[in-house]
Amino acid sequence: MNPFIQIENITYKYRNEELALDGVSLGIEKGSFVAIVGHNGSGKSTLAKHLNAILLPTSGRVLINDMDTSDPANTIEIRRTVGAVFQNPDNQLVAAVVEEDVAFAPENLGVPPSEIRERVDKALKDVGMYDYREHAPHRLSGGQKQRVAIAGVIAMRPGCIVFDEPTAMLDPSGRREVLATIGKLRDTYGITMILVTHHMNEAALADRLIVMNRGKIFLDGTPEEIFSQVDRLAEAGMNPPHTVMLLHRLKEAGWDIPDGALTHDGCAEAIRTALGVR
Ligand code: ADP
Ligand code: MG
Repeated sequence: MNPFIQIENITYKYRNEELALDGVSLGIEKGSFVAIVGHNGSGKSTLAKHLNAILLPTSGRVLINDMDTSDPANTIEIRRTVGAVFQNPDNQLVAAVVEEDVAFAPENLGVPPSEIRERVDKALKDVGMYDYREHAPHRLSGGQKQRVAIAGVIAMRPGCIVFDEPTAMLDPSGRREVLATIGKLRDTYGITMILVTHHMNEAALADRLIVMNRGKIFLDGTPEEIFSQVDRLAEAGMNPPHTVMLLHRLKEAGWDIPDGALTHDGCAEAIRTALGVR
């Protein structure tokens, strides 16, 4: 059986000459949390849009739960299966009241009206926005708007959510809210999470990290594996998180630093260990 998401040697070409995707193959297992990083123009958004049939490959194929995205008969089921959250929350909120907004996608995808109320309430509780259900979306903070957008997606009960730089327009507290929500939904429901980000410390939260470069998959591994390849990352125009970079420099300077520290706490612990202080 194929993995939940199966991408077979796809290319994608916009109207211009260059391939935006150039021979991408990828399998993603159900329930995994995959981060995708890469410099601007490396093809991240183009790849993300292939996962729910917003774009169809120029060659090769994309299977979502064994449904080929190129077959129009599959489009609705694919959009129910893979939800998407984009960068700008203002472009995603369509209704005048939060709860109407959350109801919008399930209504459009044919969820029976009797079920919608329950789904909307549950989704708003899941993202911590139930108390705001009667508020106007435009009065909310950026992080709250993104959480409402996420509620709209989970009200469809998707198997997977693709986030394309969902925190890029948020302040640090909004960013934390959205990341905590992603982590919670993954842990609670086992939803497959695909997070496109340019924040390496966000990428460190994933189980698997994919680095794109010029329309190709350049590196694919655990965050630990990828961040230890500082020189390879630099070839793709990327750096590991600052904390990991600091440990790398200390290691180059001869310190005995244990591998695998990714978080602030992990790095602090590694330095304490190296210094022999507890
Ligand atoms: P990323 O999300 O990694 O910044 P994109 O997937 O947006 O990269 O872009 C990949 C390549 O495709 C870039 O060269 C970009 O200029 C081009 N591209 C993206 N969107 C369009 C579009 N709508 N029309 C033409 N070219 C595009
Ligand atoms: Mg992009």
